[in-house]
Amino acid sequence: MKRIGHFIAGKRDPGAGTRAGDITNPATGEVSGSVAFATAADVDRAVAAATAALPGWSATPPVRRAGILFKFRELIVKHGDELARIITLEHGKVLADAKGSLTRGLEVVEFACGIPQMLKGEFSENVGTAVDSWGFRQPVGVCAGITPFNFPAMVPMWMFPVAIACGNTFVLKPSEKVPSCAMRLAELFIEAGGPPGVLNVVHGDKEAVDAILHHPGIAAVSFVGSTPIAEYVHHTASAAGKRVQALGGAKNHMMVMPDADLDQATDALMGAAFGSAGERCMAVSVALAVGDVADKLIPRLKDKMARLKVGPGTDTDSEMGPLVSKAHYEKVKGYVDLGVKEGADLVVDGRGLHLQGYEKGYFLGPCLFDKVQPTMRIYKEEIFGPVLAMVRVADFAAGAKLINDHEFGNGTAIFTRDGDAAREFAASIQVGMVGINVPIPVPMAFHSFGGWKRSIFSDHAMHGPEGVRFYTKLKTVTARWPTGIRAGAEYTMPVAR
Ligand code: NAD
Repeated sequence: MKRIGHFIAGKRDPGAGTRAGDITNPATGEVSGSVAFATAADVDRAVAAATAALPGWSATPPVRRAGILFKFRELIVKHGDELARIITLEHGKVLADAKGSLTRGLEVVEFACGIPQMLKGEFSENVGTAVDSWGFRQPVGVCAGITPFNFPAMVPMWMFPVAIACGNTFVLKPSEKVPSCAMRLAELFIEAGGPPGVLNVVHGDKEAVDAILHHPGIAAVSFVGSTPIAEYVHHTASAAGKRVQALGGAKNHMMVMPDADLDQATDALMGAAFGSAGERCMAVSVALAVGDVADKLIPRLKDKMARLKVGPGTDTDSEMGPLVSKAHYEKVKGYVDLGVKEGADLVVDGRGLHLQGYEKGYFLGPCLFDKVQPTMRIYKEEIFGPVLAMVRVADFAAGAKLINDHEFGNGTAIFTRDGDAAREFAASIQVGMVGINVPIPVPMAFHSFGGWKRSIFSDHAMHGPEGVRFYTKLKTVTARWPTGIRAGAEYTMPVAR
């Protein structure tokens, strides 16, 4: 059985603590190894390594930092299949999806390779007579990232490539459910020529997170996970004087207008609701059916749901894998039970699914509720599984009001052929990421990812230009070179006019 430790100062590190967690294969329920849980002393050693590496790394010209990231990119491409398999064995998602999510992370590395362009400052000549001024951005210091289970490669890669490209050093605390991918990425970074201590990995649970949030040597914390923990991380790290960005949970609505291409909308709902078993923060979990659209969508969905291939992620025929853990399986199944009790109409019930040879896996078939009411808990709360709730609304305005009134505001989409409706939707909806005939509008690496409302606790979204702003501090210099001018002391506010 493998034992995963930490990665500190360029080497694997067993850790000083005695606490550990099981690593489980969600398709079989088998324990494949254990992961060390970091103590405050382990976190301290990682921060010490990052602090020691900081002066050299931050002084390394951005173009040279980018050179290492170019090599890192090549190694991720070369090891793509291996990394995808690591993701599938610990998370459960199907291999093609694991590879896709790795590619979305890779794209952030590619963005980070262009960091010299992003770090170019601004210059104003003659802000006063013979006075020049320029602004530029400097690294914030040692940064930390705390990430969720559902994207073992992509979410860490939203953070550390940008932070490192900007001249910071980094301590990553991945989800304890999926520890291996981050370790492999850290090794590849060293193989690419990254100096030891620039990228460190510690594993663990609340104890490790709290040690990060309170550590005086950490300047900035990036978090992605559920809303209660995001809020806790934001408050705690802010109170400790750190810069914080904390992204939380979601309940993403897809509005289907009566004029939409319903076959396209059905395919979009299938992929967005059941891809990665619904364990995506941008998964569509609510279909808002306008007018009589529900009556046309449901037969189409039922037909496709009956044919959806659920199986182990390593089987290339599978379209949907298991849930990540037994506890999460029980939680999601509990929501399906709850929806029935609340009076929603369970049109497709995935609870009875049994896969021969995988009886101990955490498989739940796709579920569809119709006639879900906004007062129900299955509407209000994030389920994070393959459960789609159909809510019937009379018109666009009623649908938009539901989206705007919801606690979360991560992603949303509208399916329509009506440009007016689409434009109004994009302009007025109170959600951070919006799709028009695009069900999962995850911004590309050179834009920035972030929701609104209780899906984010931060002024900065991740990666793209927002990521560069988060991981850098602005400095503005005003300069003159007076020769022979002796004007004496000035006691009034200097003005240029
Ligand atoms: P989680 O909040 O349970 O865990 C996230 C991280 O916080 C992990 O590293 C975990 O070890 C740590 N953690 C857990 N409990 C903690 C505690 N009490 N104190 C301190 N740290 C703690 O989330 P998860 O179950 O791993 O991931 C699923 C959640 O993440 C969903 O809510 C999903 O919507 C969200 N998510 C959001 C985004 C986004 O961009 N908004 C992206 C991916 C996932």
